[in-house]
Formats: sequence, structure tokens, C-alpha cells
Amino acid sequence: MNTGVRSSAMLNATRRIREWDRMTGGDEVDLLVIGGGVTGAGVALDAASRGLSVILAEAHDLAFGTSRWSSKLVHGGLRYLASGDVAVARESAVERHLLMTRTAPHLTRTLPQLLPFVQGVSTTQRTVGEIGFWLGDGLRRVAGTPGRVLPRPHRASPAEAVAMFPALSRRGLRGGVVGTDGQLVDDARLVVAIARTAARTAR
Ligand SMILES: Cc1cc2nc3c(=O)[nH]c(=O)nc-3n(C[C@H](O)[C@H](O)[C@H](O)COP(=O)(O)OP(=O)(O)OC[C@H]3O[C@@H](n4cnc5c(N)ncnc54)[C@H](O)[C@@H]3O)c2cc1C
Repeated sequence: MNTGVRSSAMLNATRRIREWDRMTGGDEVDLLVIGGGVTGAGVALDAASRGLSVILAEAHDLAFGTSRWSSKLVHGGLRYLASGDVAVARESAVERHLLMTRTAPHLTRTLPQLLPFVQGVSTTQRTVGEIGFWLGDGLRRVAGTPGRVLPRPHRASPAEAVAMFPALSRRGLRGGVVGTDGQLVDDARLVVAIARTAARTAR
């Protein structure tokens, strides 16, 4: 993605050769980004959207590194809340909201999570888990994410728990509590989508 006329989102060999020639021919660019993972693609998009000219150099392929091997959670910041980092927790919830409702609803989905009430899960663990889900729901509400995207936590009966997770053992099962978070359908596709948007945005 580079200087010159407004570009298309096409990332192909022709474009690569054209931009490589420009770069080696002495064209100046404002920013050189090394690495086409989610960070590099995001930086390139941010810069391009501010009107800067950008080159993104990737040694292998877009999302070649950890960005294609993540656990695909688009989490809403609960883990940061647990460590007392309220600002980062809020930012995570807001970013999740934007991904799921505006920028990439086609690449994200709702991920139900069940804390089953089985033998071995103590009352304290249940209570802490349930409080965690409700705190997570508080972050959802702070970010303004609608309940149809991320439904609120609720208690599940044993039948509902098994219907959701058929591999769950019924022995000693007394239902559970269900919370929701965001999940990427495919983390590499998100990187490609960001890179293509940057390519489209570039001058
Ligand atoms: C097991 C696991 C699970 C995770 N789960 C989650 C999750 O659920 N949710 C979440 O948000 N995050 C998760 N993460 C974190 C997330 O995956 C990373 O924070 C993110 O992928 C980092 O992206 P990046 O672009 O910085 O690095 P990378 O994706 O590793 O990208 C670096 C890129 O740079 C390229 N490169 C390296 N050297 C050069 C060079 N000299 N020249 C040109 N190119 C170069 C590489 O080929 C690579 O494509 C997880 C991470 C791991 C490992």
C-alpha cells in the first residue's frame, strides 16, 4: 500500500511489483511498517486513514505469525478488571463492541461460555465465576453492546447445559451459569480485511 492515486483493496502481484518499483525507484513514504500481523495491518490502516503514505513489508504472508494462531477470543476486558486495570478493561470492551457491531460483524460471533455446577466446583468457585460473568456484563453495558449481540448471563438448568455442551457429563450436574463473549470466526481473515481496508484507504 503506497503513495500516489487512491488505491483499490486489491493485494496482488501486479500491485506488489508496482509498489516495489516505486519504493526502489526512490519514492519517499511517510511510514514503513515491518510485519503484516494484526498489529502491522492495524498500524498501516491507522496511518493510511490519517493521510500518510505507508509501506507494509511482510516476510512471509499476512497473518503468518501469532495473528493466525490466537485462541480467537475477542474478549471484553474482564481479565484486566480482575487485575484492577479499569481503563484497559473498558477499552477492551469498547473495541469488542466496535468489532462486533460496526467494523467486523461478519467476522465475529457470540461465544457462549458455561461454568457447570458439577462435583469439584466449590460454592466459592461458583460464586466467583458468576460474579465474574456479571462484571463482564457490566463492561458490555458500559461499551453499549446490545444484549442481542452479547446476551446477559443467566442460570442454566442441567438440560440446557447439556443441550449447549453435549459432551458434558450428566453425573452430579446441577446446571450452571452461562455468560457470553466475542469470538473471531477466523483471525487471519480479520488481518487480511484490515490490510485490504488499509490498501483501499492508502493514497
Ligand atoms: C496461543 C495464543 C492465543 C492467543 N489468543 C488470543 C485471543 O484469544 N485474543 C486476542 O486478542 N489475542 C490473543 N493472542 C495474542 C495475539 O494473537 C497477539 O497479540 C497478536 O497476534 C500479535 O500480533 P502481531 O501483529 O504483533 O504479531 P504477529 O501476528 O506475530 O505478526 C508478526 C509478523 O511479522 C512478520 N515478520 C517478522 N519479522 C519480519 C521481518 N524482519 N520482516 C518482515 N516481516 C517480519 C511475521 O512473518 C509475522 O507475520 C494469543 C496469542 C497466542 C500465542
